[in-house]
Amino acid sequence: MATTNTDPEIITDKNEMRKWSRAMRSQGKTVGLVPTMGYLHEGHLSLIKESHNRTNLTVVSIYVNPGQFSPSEDLSTYPSDFHGDLLKLKSLPQRVDVVFHPYNLYDYNNNNNNNNKSVVIGNAIRKGENETVSSCVEETEAGHETWVRVERLEKGMCGKSRPVFFRGVATVVAKLFNIVEPDVAVFGKKDYQQLRVIQRMVRDLDFSIEVIGSEIMRDSDGLALSSRNVHLKPEEREKALSISRSLFWAKSAAQKGQINCKELRELVIKEINGAGGRIDYVEVVNQESLEAVDKINSPVVICVAVRFGTVRLIDNMEINV
Ligand code: AMP
Repeated sequence: MATTNTDPEIITDKNEMRKWSRAMRSQGKTVGLVPTMGYLHEGHLSLIKESHNRTNLTVVSIYVNPGQFSPSEDLSTYPSDFHGDLLKLKSLPQRVDVVFHPYNLYDYNNNNNNNNKSVVIGNAIRKGENETVSSCVEETEAGHETWVRVERLEKGMCGKSRPVFFRGVATVVAKLFNIVEPDVAVFGKKDYQQLRVIQRMVRDLDFSIEVIGSEIMRDSDGLALSSRNVHLKPEEREKALSISRSLFWAKSAAQKGQINCKELRELVIKEINGAGGRIDYVEVVNQESLEAVDKINSPVVICVAVRFGTVRLIDNMEINV
């Protein structure tokens, strides 16, 4: 395990990334991958710690994946601060060996039906009418037409209101896995459905990668850390605390014997509605299958997606009674 901290190597080219990884693995070193969209916070950093505990070397990818945003979603306003991210990574006690920062991993020229021109926003490429095509586009391979779909798991919860989301996630994560060839990949339980989609993809497509689910990191007041929190106005942030508050109440009610999921859902919905949140969904589902359950007689997770102002927040609470 590496013990001294030096600046991470920044790699933008996928062939170079693969070469690095293969060279390290040929020396018998294990590689951990932490995929992120940047604007790093303590939640991301906890995943790096997890990777560091399990592998010799850690790669953090920073890539805002256009494939998981629909045209109406917030790709253009997604926060980014690559320089700040690097400073955070450098100051960590755990060494990050490589920051993989590709310009673009998927060419949307031939895939997105809504617009007709690729543009660069931050490090990501998306469609749009008014912006110019950057030279970064040249780094892509035109004409991708392959998508990874995890057919059942991608449909519920976030998949209902974001129909292209998990297709975009699974495809880009599969590409990252093929490029970095890690032994271990760490994802946050904060994005619970995403974690299960990736674990299922790894199982179904025989990736030789161990996927670890890491616990949710929260602010001291309970709000789950998210890059999107920066867009919350102070009063919205205060109201958004209803999410974690109600989830902790529901967990406590379940531990005291309330096994009726309808009651637990209603408790959460009432609290969030009372705070003015616009609920996308509140569901109590089996932790593995993500199928809705009526009674808690196996490990469940209560998953929530809510809008406060323009910000869509997700959170969840595992209940193992
Ligand atoms: P993102 O940059 O939002 O795509 O997130 C990258 C990774 O960090 C994903 O695996 C997320 O689940 C994880 N993550 C984001 N927020 C948190 C959090 N508050 N606690 C733990 N993991 C998180």
